[in-house]
Amino acid sequence: MTLGEAEMAFLQKSFQEYYAEASSSLQPPKAFDKREFGFIPFRREKSMMRHKGFKSLPDLAAFLVNFTPSDAYYSSAYYERPEAEDMAGKGWLGADLIFDIDSDHIVTSCKTVHDSWKCLDCGLEGWGVEPEKCPRCGRRRIEADKWVCEQCLEAAKRETLKLLSMLEEDFGFSQAKLEVAFSGHRGYHVHVADEAILKFSSEERKEIVDYVSASGLKASLLYPELRRRSTREVDFSAEGWRGRIARAAYSLLLRKGEELKELGLTGKAVRLLEENREKLLRELSAGDAAGIPWKTWERLLQAAASLEAALVDTVVTTDVHRLIRLPGSLHGKTGLKAVLIESRKLPEFNPLTEALAFPEERNVKVKIVKPKPLKLGGAEYKFKAGEIVEVSWSPAVYMIGTGIAVLLKGGLQPSEA
Ligand SMILES: [Zn+2]
Ligand SMILES: [Zn+2]
Repeated sequence: MTLGEAEMAFLQKSFQEYYAEASSSLQPPKAFDKREFGFIPFRREKSMMRHKGFKSLPDLAAFLVNFTPSDAYYSSAYYERPEAEDMAGKGWLGADLIFDIDSDHIVTSCKTVHDSWKCLDCGLEGWGVEPEKCPRCGRRRIEADKWVCEQCLEAAKRETLKLLSMLEEDFGFSQAKLEVAFSGHRGYHVHVADEAILKFSSEERKEIVDYVSASGLKASLLYPELRRRSTREVDFSAEGWRGRIARAAYSLLLRKGEELKELGLTGKAVRLLEENREKLLRELSAGDAAGIPWKTWERLLQAAASLEAALVDTVVTTDVHRLIRLPGSLHGKTGLKAVLIESRKLPEFNPLTEALAFPEERNVKVKIVKPKPLKLGGAEYKFKAGEIVEVSWSPAVYMIGTGIAVLLKGGLQPSEA
């Protein structure tokens, strides 16, 4: 999607006004002068401007007002010379541990409502997540039309909460070392700034990803006695995954038969579980799973592992030179703020009300070109294609930036208000 000239100018002017007011809401990373900064300009050619360094927050704030980028990033790494143009010359000192959780990668039922795709070769269209190749012609030139809704963001939050609990309970990071940030669009970032991980290599970071995402986790390795007939220990209070899958498998047993079948249990197994549920739960609480056929129990533990795994993006965590969105800056597509959230406040955080950047008083007239479900600032918007509407500033920026609306000629410009 490419924005028109007027739309791009509107967004840049809006962002500039935000940055002129917002230097206090910028949340700079620690060891500020050791970070590399990068920016994407408001231009058709969206190449990133990298290798910038700033000595102070006022310098950065002034740059944001004068240059007004569409997106602003800083490095998870610390460098001796962040401005050096080649990586070797920068003098890498270490990097925070970063996790990226993106609702785009999470299967949610809402995607069949708001996402669609089209085969660019044969024209076949469909709803939901795009297939890897076209089911009709088999080619791979597929154009996806994606959207993010409240349900998508909730799903991303659930993954983030699972990750946080593992970082605290299994890795022992204190809450003070964990920072959560809403990305301004589709998900959350978790930053761990701790001496212990600072010098970790990509491979070491990959092992952490594998751990939190339960990659390659086999229930039978955590419970070698799984196939034994007489007694089968269930260790709810065990540290790490051994306890985690036991607790989660127990709660799976409380689910309805239909849901159990969806986890891959056979009809026979489900009947057995349903008919003996009370007794089995009682035995399980006492720490023994021998009443459940071992194959069924193994499947439950394995299903529990995939439900408890945190879906994080491997590439982001293993890249020790990664640039990540600057908290307090705006997302170029949505105009929402990247917001830092205390990890204990994440459950209550609502990005669709708390990440709005623009004052409500100003209205902007826009024309809807591609209707999508939108909920922002407590209001729910339902539009038809071609409709002309007047909305307040934040939703106007969101709609124009995501390309679902265009600026109406003569519609109120922020500079005129
Ligand atoms: Zn096709
Ligand atoms: Zn959704």
